[in-house]
Amino acid sequence: MNLLLLDENDFIAPGRVKLADRRFLQLRDIIGLETGKVFRAGLTGGKVGTAQVVDFDGSAAVLDVDLDQEPPAGNGITLVCALPRPQTFHKVLHCAITMGVKKIYFIHTRKVEKSYWDASVLAPEAVDKEIRLALEQCGDTIYPQIEYRKRFKPFAEDELPLLVETADFGCFGHPRAVAKVPNLAGQKMVLAVGPEGGFNEFENMLLERAGLTPVTLGSRVLRTEFALAALLAKLY
Ligand code: SAH
Repeated sequence: MNLLLLDENDFIAPGRVKLADRRFLQLRDIIGLETGKVFRAGLTGGKVGTAQVVDFDGSAAVLDVDLDQEPPAGNGITLVCALPRPQTFHKVLHCAITMGVKKIYFIHTRKVEKSYWDASVLAPEAVDKEIRLALEQCGDTIYPQIEYRKRFKPFAEDELPLLVETADFGCFGHPRAVAKVPNLAGQKMVLAVGPEGGFNEFENMLLERAGLTPVTLGSRVLRTEFALAALLAKLY
């Protein structure tokens, strides 16, 4: 945890919070609690700064917070990702959030198994937990917006072209593409990443028609989560 993520309801007085949940246990058991110790902290959806331990006992800690800085800016990339299998979902979500993606569409494609849509990892509480862990990891406070689209064709034909239109560049990862991944830091981008089985030819065609350029990291086929990290790093 590189940032203590706080909520309005943690405050017991202006500038003072009391923590007794997972965050308290982590401070106590992993990071180490000492009176006077200072941690980085941030308010969900708001500013970042510091939190200093005022007092603690076996079940809770009280900290004084001073939040006066803006959280890090997002990377301007909208991610369109084929819904990964449940074991991979949290890795993809974590990677995207820690690397600064603020808008994510998880979509259905031919190679996405229908059962993935019923996975418990997609329950709002489970997603919320992953988001908070990722924000704490990267020192951010701003939640990403997450959308789910269970039908590929209407998304690719009706929504995606509009997303690409309002961006400076759109691309999708494809091991056998010709174009390399450009570095377009600071621009608004749309990036699509396929499922473990890849996008099929029809899907590739619709993605290109929506305005996305196929780009490659090289001929080695990477797992979705690693391809995502490399694509985001190169683009941004
Ligand atoms: N079996 C598929 C690969 C799926 S890998 C195939 O051979 O096409 C899952 C996703 O990760 C791909 O759809 C792609 O978006 C991305 N990816 C994996 N390796 C990549 C590479 N070398 N370059 C660009 N994107 C890659």
